[in-house]
Order: sequence, then C-alpha cells, then structure tokens
Amino acid sequence: MSNFRIGFGYDVHQLQLGYDFWLGGIKLEHEKGAVGHSDADVLIHVICDALLGAANLRDIGYHFSDKDPKYKGIDSKILLKEVMLLLRNEGYEVGNIDTTVCLQIPKVNPHIVAMKKCLSEVMEVEERNISIKATTTENLGFVGREEGVSAYCVALIYTI
Ligand SMILES: [Zn+2]
Repeated sequence: MSNFRIGFGYDVHQLQLGYDFWLGGIKLEHEKGAVGHSDADVLIHVICDALLGAANLRDIGYHFSDKDPKYKGIDSKILLKEVMLLLRNEGYEVGNIDTTVCLQIPKVNPHIVAMKKCLSEVMEVEERNISIKATTTENLGFVGREEGVSAYCVALIYTI
C-alpha cells in the first residue's frame, strides 16, 4: 500500500522592463521580465514549494536563501533538480503535479508543450504527470495590470 501526500505552492514575481522572462524553464520573448534573486521562474518556484510542502521539508526560501550570493541569478532548474534529490533521498516519488500560471501577456499556451518537456527532463517525471495551465486575470489586479506574474501548484507524492 502506497503512502500518498499532497503539497501546495504559491508564488509571485514582479515584471519589469529589461529583465529576462523565464517561465517553466524556458525563456519567453517579452519586453518585460520577472524580477527576483534567482532567475525568478515563478512556475518552477511553485513546483519546488508544492513538492517540499508535500514532503514537509519547509520551503524554497529555507533551502535556497535569497540572502545567499550563491543563488544570485541562478537557473531555477538547478533548484528544482536539488528539490527532486531531497525528495528522492526521503524515499518519495512524484505522482503528478498540476499548475496554473496567471499572466496577462504574453500568452503562455503556445509554450506549454516546451515547458512540459523541459520540466519532465529536469524532474525525471513523465510529461503525462506534469500539467500546466494558464489564465489571465481579466485585466484585474497586479497580474491584469501587467505588473506581475503569479502561479499555483499542487503536487502528489508517494513512497514506493
Ligand atoms: Zn519565486
């Protein structure tokens, strides 16, 4: 009998002119980009937090401090790889993850196939177990005003 656990992640990053826009491990072409200590990949950050939460291993900021110069500008794929290692060291495997990105522009949908492929490789989890959804916020709030991007993730993990 498997032991199932569930986790949840939420994150926000500001969008500003002159920054790269990394999302789901790929770089989007856009005049604005996400601001953060790392590469500010909001989708990867919520996946990390949901996985860590499911395993009750604190959160992304606990493991990779935004005060630590070691993580300045770091590729979030490296952080996700590290989280997968932590998880598997505890005897967990990923069942599936389900995510939603909230972004007014640019459109996320054309990039979902590439993001899933990228995340599947980084996590060593089958693409069929990685769901990425996208929504605008109908021009409402900080997402609607194109001031930021947010994301949510739920993750199911289990012990083998
Ligand atoms: Zn973040």
